[in-house]
Amino acid sequence: MIKDETALKVMVNTVGSFVKERLIPIEEEVAESDHIPDDVTAEMREMGLFGLSIPEEYGGLGLTLEEEVIVVMELCKAAPCFRSLIGTSVGIGGMGIVFDGTEDQKKKYLPVIASGEMPACFCLTEPDAGSDAGAVKTSAVKDGDFYIINGTKRFITNAPEAGIYVVYARTNQAIKGAPGVSAFIVERGTPGLVLGKNEKKMGQGGAHISDVIFEDCRVPASALLGGKLEKGFITAMKVLDKGRTHVSAVCVGSMERIIEEATRYAMDRKQFGQPIAEFQLVQAMLADSKMEAYAAKCMVLETARKYDRKENISTEASCTKLFASEAATRVADRGVQILGGSGYIREYPCERFYRDVRVYRLYEGTSQIQQLIIARNMIKAMK
Ligand SMILES: Cc1cc2nc3c(=O)[nH]c(=O)nc-3n(C[C@H](O)[C@H](O)[C@H](O)COP(=O)(O)OP(=O)(O)OC[C@H]3O[C@@H](n4cnc5c(N)ncnc54)[C@H](O)[C@@H]3O)c2cc1C
Repeated sequence: MIKDETALKVMVNTVGSFVKERLIPIEEEVAESDHIPDDVTAEMREMGLFGLSIPEEYGGLGLTLEEEVIVVMELCKAAPCFRSLIGTSVGIGGMGIVFDGTEDQKKKYLPVIASGEMPACFCLTEPDAGSDAGAVKTSAVKDGDFYIINGTKRFITNAPEAGIYVVYARTNQAIKGAPGVSAFIVERGTPGLVLGKNEKKMGQGGAHISDVIFEDCRVPASALLGGKLEKGFITAMKVLDKGRTHVSAVCVGSMERIIEEATRYAMDRKQFGQPIAEFQLVQAMLADSKMEAYAAKCMVLETARKYDRKENISTEASCTKLFASEAATRVADRGVQILGGSGYIREYPCERFYRDVRVYRLYEGTSQIQQLIIARNMIKAMK
């Protein structure tokens, strides 16, 4: 649903210019230094990017999901590390509070998440609980008016930058699976919250992940998300349905950029006395990439519209994420192929994007997990 056509157009144009003039020129340097300059982060804050999906009454831009994915597709024509910086606030971290926080929690945290002052992160994965997220071992034990949290969360995006950690922990040890899990909001600086090392990754230099370790971390009972016990997994799944649509928009942005780079190169590069873009075998690679990016874009927009109509998107979000993330790696591979040897050279964005996009098939549920969700929903619907 597009609430305000004109405002959206202005936002997309502003983001488009920001991508071209500010982000693309520094992509390589950011990837190499593994650091986004502070003035660029400040500009992203000023543009409201940390609060895209946070309701206006709490200081965000209150975009619908359709509006959000359109902005994200534009932003992701730049290296995906820039989107990653806002991704956990706009998506998986901040949304848990938007969906299920108490009024007090929303008033306290959403404005500082939206302004970018205290970015949020989403702490679900653990060393022994990845795809089987319901198996989390991190515990939160009641102690008077407090909970004591112990355990390790793994691969947490923006953990080093975050001010707010939305943590999924087991409050009911008698229940082994998902129903025993509750969510807590833990602030940076709380004694007992310790960060692991900044992991060296395959791609997306400038975006950071680390362990978040809880060692007798004492939080007030008011940190329990929504004030409700054992509802954490339901929150996490709602967050991920929306998050998967957002990540699919990220895939589309990356694909469009790779296609632009590959097409430009093919038109410039001459072999056998003519631009390689004139060769039909090269054209086939360009056309297949365009087709996949377009199909993914249609899926993203349709799933977002369905979400905005308040319909269940569990199946569609997984179909979209599965298709878009798998397509992004095929498109990135063709990008390298079209550039020939240059596609293997760091100086060219296609080499970087080839590594950057690989993670889309892994996080927010691997491709195999999306397949399981889709098939499980299909079988359930027939019963
Ligand atoms: C860059 C990055 C950022 C991340 N950010 C976050 C974050 O912010 N917050 C967070 O909580 N997590 C985050 N993660 C973690 C991510 O969500 C997990 O890595 C992912 O869910 C997979 O879990 P795993 O790594 O434990 O793999 P595993 O679950 O061990 O899976 C290994 C392989 O087994 C397959 N497999 C597992 N179970 C099944 C099954 N039942 N049927 C078929 N195949 C199966 C998987 O598909 C995969 O191929 C991030 C990871 C990365 C790499």
